Amino acid sequence: MAIEPEASRSKSKQAQCAGTRKDGMRCTARVMGAGEHCFAHDPAKAAQRDQARRKGGAGRAIRHRLDHLVPATLRPMIGDLLDALGEVHAGTLDPKRASAMAALAGAITRAYGVGILEERLQALEAAQAAQEGGEA
Ligand SMILES: [Zn+2]
Repeated sequence: MAIEPEASRSKSKQAQCAGTRKDGMRCTARVMGAGEHCFAHDPAKAAQRDQARRKGGAGRAIRHRLDHLVPATLRPMIGDLLDALGEVHAGTLDPKRASAMAALAGAITRAYGVGILEERLQALEAAQAAQEGGEA
């Protein structure tokens, strides 16, 4: 009977992954099954991780299609965000970092949106002024 609490304590010790994240910190993900690593760091899960990376390849295809719809200065940011999505999914990027990236990207996009609207408004106003000038 006294052995059981000891056994469950050593089990909970194994619960944290033995791997290291890209940012150099100890991986805080939980161990899967009987190994010492989470999904992202388990050497036996390399094939599944390759599959997840190929999904990242699909992200690159979307990126290519969006290229002509997005201002050139914003394109690298979209690439970074798509990479971050795959990395969070694979457990190799801290979700907090990804959240910070998403917040900054949102702010940048809103700032660009204001600039683009202002440009279009000026063009409309110039066109209208030219038309009124022609009628007078
Ligand atoms: Zn891990």
